[in-house]
Parts: sequence; structure tokens; C-alpha cells
Amino acid sequence: MSIRVGKTAKAPEFPVAAKCALQNEQLRKNVHHATDVIRNKRALRVAEMPDWEHLRQSAHEIKEQTLAHLDRYLIEFERNCTAAGGTVHWARDADEANAIAISLIQQYGGDEVIKVKTMTSDEVQMNPALHAAGITPHETDLADMIVQLGDDEPSHIVVPALHRNRFEIRDIFRKKMHRAELTEQPEELAAAARRYLRDRFLRVKIGVSGANFAIAETGSVCVVESEGNGRMCVTLPEVLITLVGIEKMIPSFQDLEVFLQLLPRSATGERMNPYNSLWTGVHAGDGPRAFHVILLDNGRTKLLQSKMERETLDCIRCGACLNACPVYRETGGHAYGSIYSGPIGAILSPQLNSMQHSRSLPYASSLCGACYEVCPVKINIPEILIHLRGRVVQDDQKTLSGNLSQMNLAMQGAAIAFGSRRRYEAAQRLGRMGQTLFQRGDQLRHLPGMAGGWTRFRDLRALPKQSFRDWWKANSRETGL
Ligand code: SF4
Repeated sequence: MSIRVGKTAKAPEFPVAAKCALQNEQLRKNVHHATDVIRNKRALRVAEMPDWEHLRQSAHEIKEQTLAHLDRYLIEFERNCTAAGGTVHWARDADEANAIAISLIQQYGGDEVIKVKTMTSDEVQMNPALHAAGITPHETDLADMIVQLGDDEPSHIVVPALHRNRFEIRDIFRKKMHRAELTEQPEELAAAARRYLRDRFLRVKIGVSGANFAIAETGSVCVVESEGNGRMCVTLPEVLITLVGIEKMIPSFQDLEVFLQLLPRSATGERMNPYNSLWTGVHAGDGPRAFHVILLDNGRTKLLQSKMERETLDCIRCGACLNACPVYRETGGHAYGSIYSGPIGAILSPQLNSMQHSRSLPYASSLCGACYEVCPVKINIPEILIHLRGRVVQDDQKTLSGNLSQMNLAMQGAAIAFGSRRRYEAAQRLGRMGQTLFQRGDQLRHLPGMAGGWTRFRDLRALPKQSFRDWWKANSRETGL
């Protein structure tokens, strides 16, 4: 099995990458501005909805019910998609998904593809695989195109080029489109992108798309977007290949009603997405003549085993948790080392990777709960983060170096001290004696080892000379209580 989540296997740990991102003033300014705009728009649109909390609860229940019976819905989807003229392929991991896509493209004689809305294709690293097979992929989502032309990585799951401002985009377009006369005016940049893409839409015969939802009842697939490029990609080519994670399944067409109200408001602060494209099989004289769906597992079925971990798969990739997260808003998405960034990335990437990579991500959170409050499907991200931190500790304790790590020794010591009153009081006495080495007034400064990470940036009050218990004992003696 070659389960792969973007480039997480080679990404630096979050604290290292975050330190680097924090030094980039321009990036932080861009991320702050963009997330502020989207957050404010979302808040307005959500406030208009008297039944918002009911919608969230419904979405949560639909997702939970679907995932509890996912095997059944996947088979139902395959049956209905096939009956409508589509072909369903099953990919256990990244390599299988890429191999299926490449063999289909070669079978139809293509050497280039147009692509839209395919985070899953970034997850399996499809573009490098296509390049290696001599096939040129063209991203058509404006933000994805900016990322591709800039030889960059996406930094947000809805707005992948959110870290770029228009001056940077102008420079990328000037260089890659050979348009030295371009200015940074948004209308001019949009017109340049339109012209650049139109040629590809009309020329390329094979489209590769992702999907926001796959509907078991009808075998249909759905993409929502704002630019119309998705509509072009799923209607103009002769062959359409849709790569979709198995967790995108919903049972019935009616369920879309709930998600199509929640998703646009949460993602971009729109009441409705300008383009909602649904396609079901093939129809003579209308749209692609061949339609293939690749259902991707890539580590997802492992998450189904635990109710707590399974909740991660409820995600509809709206990005609201990223915009609300105080950590993401400072570092941007690249620091997460994964195409899935922010709070959802912090729980999804390590789990898909069987906790082998991205192990620092569950700690990339202040646990403030802002992500849970905005999540349209009510994923309890803080609880899952704590659960994953527990898994990291348990895994570490299986190795000698993990057992001897500062953190583990400190926690084991704390467990012993907190285990009995006598030991706790003895630890307090020891602490009072030891702290004199680091005490300046009523504060502790420059603590050694791991604790130094705290005193380097924050205040830490010294232990008082007398504990509350001692004070109580002394006073009750005096007053005869
Ligand atoms: S976890 Fe919730 S808020 Fe975050 S992207 Fe997924 S659905 Fe949106």
C-alpha cells in the first residue's frame, strides 16, 4: 500500500515550518486580510439563517449515518452510476488512483488534461505522476492555476492561492503567460486568466475533476464552484474522469438540500454557489461521451473503525475552520506540510498517514474551540486533537527513546506526584526549594529544558511560599475552626 497525503512524508515538523512562515510579513498580511474578509462574509450569511443550528445538526447526522453504513452506499453508488453509463474504479491508495487515471488517459489517446476541484488529486500527487507519464495537466480553477503557474503549493483548502496578493499574481502571470504589459488590476488579471484557460478548455479532450458530493441513490456526482471553470471541465471534454474520496458519499439527492445551504455560506460567505454542476453517467449528444469515477480510499477506511476518528471524515472541505483558527491565521497553510491545512488538516493528515507523518500537527492548536463553533457539520475538532495527542504519546511510549523523552519523563513524574496527597505535597516542597535558582521577584525566569519553552516567551509565577492547604491548617489552628 502506498498511502500518500501530498508531500507530508517529507515535510518539516510544524514548529520548524511555522517559525519560518512567521518571519514572512507579507504572507501573514495576505492571510490575515483574506481570512478576515471571508470570516466576516460568512458571519453575515450565517446570521440570516434562523435554522442554522438545525441544518448543522442535520448535516452531522446525515454524515454519521452514511459513514456507519458506507459499504452499502458505495455499492449503491457503483450500481446506479454504472446503470447510467458510467464506469466505477476502486483505488486503495495513491499509486492505484494515479495508475488508473493514467491508463484511462492513455487509453483515450490523451497527452494533456484539464483539471478542476481536485484536492484529492493533490493528495495522491497526481500532477507529478501525470508529468512522469508524459501527460500535461492544466489546472483551471483560478487559484489552482495561480498555484500551478507559480510552482507553488496550495495554502488553503478553498482558496489555494490565498497567500498571494494581486501584485504577486501579476508577476506570475507576466512571467508564465508572457504578458509583460499586465497590471495588477483584478479585471485585467481575470481577463488574462480567462484567455489563457479558454484555449485549453476548447483544445483538451479529457477532463479530470474532483467532487464535493457523490450521491448513492442516483450515482450522480456534484461539484460546486464560483467561476464556471468546473462547469466547462465537466461538460466540454469528450472524456471525464472524476476522482473522489469515498467519504464524499451522501445517501440521497434530497440530502444535497442541507449541504448546499451550509457549504457556500461557510466556504465563501455566499448564499449559494454560482455554479452547482451535477452529472450522472453519459447521455448521447450531451456532455462527455465516457465517464469514469475513481473511488479513493487512501487510508480512509482505517478511520471508520473508531467513532471518534470517523468524525473526521464528515468534513465537507468548506475551510471555515481555517479562517477561524488563530494558529492558521498566523502561519498560513504551508506550515502544515500538507494540502489539508488548518484545524481539519491537523486531524486529517496524521490519521490518513496512520500517525506516521504529520505527528506534530495535533499540537498545532490552542484548543480554543473556534473551529468547532464554525464547522457546518459539527466536527468536534478539539476533542479529536486531544485524542490524537494521546495516540502520539502512546506510540512514543512503545520505544525506548520515546520513554526517555523529556515530555514523557515529565508526564510520568507528574502522574506519580498527583497519585497521592503525600507525594503531591512533597513535590510542592521540592519545587519551592528548587525554584529559588530561577526566581526573580514573584516570577520564574529561564527555566531549563522543556519548561524553558514557556518562560522564554511567557510569564510564570513562582510557587507561593505557603500553599492554600498550609494556610488553612495554620489559620484553623489559630481560629479554632
Ligand atoms: S472541519 Fe468543518 S469547518 Fe473545517 S473544513 Fe471541514 S467542514 Fe469545514
